[in-house]
Amino acid sequence: MAILQSSDPIIIIGAGMAGLAAAERLRASGFHPLVLEASDGIGGRVRSDRANGVVELGAEFIHGARAATWEVLKRANLKTRPYEVDDATPRRFSYGGALQPVDWALANQIEAYVARGEQYAGPDISLTEWFEQIAPAR
Ligand SMILES: Cc1cc2nc3c(=O)[nH]c(=O)nc-3n(C[C@H](O)[C@H](O)[C@H](O)COP(=O)(O)OP(=O)(O)OC[C@H]3O[C@@H](n4cnc5c(N)ncnc54)[C@H](O)[C@@H]3O)c2cc1C
Repeated sequence: MAILQSSDPIIIIGAGMAGLAAAERLRASGFHPLVLEASDGIGGRVRSDRANGVVELGAEFIHGARAATWEVLKRANLKTRPYEVDDATPRRFSYGGALQPVDWALANQIEAYVARGEQYAGPDISLTEWFEQIAPAR
């Protein structure tokens, strides 16, 4: 099996979270990866529109205490704030091109599932697999 030398060229396609995390790990191991990004910014699906305040167009939540993101945030000295679910706050979501009121019964059910997920201690699985385990389709 060929072993990589730190002088070997390494190209990472895409400067989303996966590409940036891979680049950081490789650099920490003494490699000098080149990251190629097709769009005009880094971050991939993590994208903020700052034209009028901040509107998150992509990822904004850190899900769970075990998320690897915590370690990155700590190293970068970035701040977070808890997301409070408050039934009294009017909320809307966009569906079919129109803003719809939130179905609180469904939202609370989903929150209960997420809270159960916080306790999960098994192997790393996708959210879809998690929901299939705890709420199999009827
Ligand atoms: C609306 C939305 C909300 C989300 N909310 C959350 C959240 O709250 N919390 C959470 O944890 N996750 C959330 N996610 C998921 C999270 O954004 C993704 O899991 C994560 O950003 C994926 O990172 P990635 O590096 O794998 O891919 P991407 O972010 O898709 O990055 C891939 C990068 O590669 C580039 N690329 C692709 N092909 C090429 C090519 N041929 N050459 C050069 N560059 C290329 C793309 O331009 C892009 O920048 C959300 C996603 C969306 C869409």
